[in-house]
Amino acid sequence: MAGFKRQALVDDAAETATVSLCDLSNRRATVFCLCQRCGHAAMVDAGQLVGQLGPDMPVAEVGTRMRCRGCGSKDVATQPSWAASVAGEGMMADGLAAAS
Ligand SMILES: [Zn+2]
Repeated sequence: MAGFKRQALVDDAAETATVSLCDLSNRRATVFCLCQRCGHAAMVDAGQLVGQLGPDMPVAEVGTRMRCRGCGSKDVATQPSWAASVAGEGMMADGLAAAS
């Protein structure tokens, strides 16, 4: 299961590299985050991340700033999710992790 998701992330890598948080926020899209250690996945609102990380942050780099709330790993992969926005719990920008 985790392997399948990881492969999907690889397939979308080229597109992901060109998309910034601003692009996602403008379309009210979300960022799909997948923990590479425990497989925990979460959808994070792009507008929220813009406020925390800045609008010019490429989605592919957002994962370097995220921390899994399931296992604490910072090995998180991210990709754009253009589907309807669904608020998710379980993953947040690193800056907020200390407050939880
Ligand atoms: Zn995890």
